[in-house]
Amino acid sequence: MGKWQTKDQLTKLLCNLVRIPSITGSQAEEIFPDFVVQQLSDLSYFQQYPNHLQKNPTGDDRFFITALVKKAPDVKNTVILVSHFDVVDIKDYGRWKEDAFNPEKLTSMFYSHIDELPVPVRQDMEQGNWLFGRGTMDMKCGLALHMSMIEQACEGKFDGNILLLAVPDEEVNSVGMRAAVPKLLNIAKQFDLEYTTVLNSEPMFTRYPGDESKYIYTGSVGKVLPGFLCYGKESHVGEPFAGLNANYMASLLTAEIELNTEFCEVIEGEATPPPTNLIQRDLKDEYSTQI
Ligand SMILES: [Zn+2]
Repeated sequence: MGKWQTKDQLTKLLCNLVRIPSITGSQAEEIFPDFVVQQLSDLSYFQQYPNHLQKNPTGDDRFFITALVKKAPDVKNTVILVSHFDVVDIKDYGRWKEDAFNPEKLTSMFYSHIDELPVPVRQDMEQGNWLFGRGTMDMKCGLALHMSMIEQACEGKFDGNILLLAVPDEEVNSVGMRAAVPKLLNIAKQFDLEYTTVLNSEPMFTRYPGDESKYIYTGSVGKVLPGFLCYGKESHVGEPFAGLNANYMASLLTAEIELNTEFCEVIEGEATPPPTNLIQRDLKDEYSTQI
């Protein structure tokens, strides 16, 4: 029997991955790859080919993981399995914050406090099997799945080669993915690979509230991150017409852009989500009567 093939084995692996609180920029994010590398190096394939499994530096004390399973020396076709292992912070867990990285405990606590939870959450919980915790869905379950596929690849289950890539810093500045691109090119040269497909195991999203469809996304989506600096003119609050309020300028910009479907790109019937403001703030440290 394999290490990560049954539901129980995968759930256990997922809980172990979630237990490492790899919030973007934290020390746990720096050490997370050690756990995955240690787990993968238990597989006899990587004991035979230790240089196929690597922890690669991003240049800022973080690392990304590459693990290549080659079917045979002359096989070129390679599928890349891509994931990220950083997670966003846990402030919004409120009083359950302490157990955000302990899925079994958090889940049983949620079930025992089911009456306090919002109705849609309650309905979900009553319907099926749920495992709560920061990173369970986005996206350590994807990494767990990829690790189980790597194990299958080691046993010769696939026709081509499989290359696992797991990166840090996806939730912030994509340092991991940007450092990985040249490495992928090197690996292709070193092992004579041809990349045919990239499978990303990120979660899927509903298109509208209550959407029950299951989606598989193909192609790629880029992102545009515009930034605006609204430079006002200072004045005392008692003389508002002598100044220009930068907060007001920013709010007009937001109103113009927010959920504006004119900014959606539609390709083959598929529309990108409209833009939405992710951060808006002024540069004042404290409240004052100055505009
Ligand atoms: Zn994600």
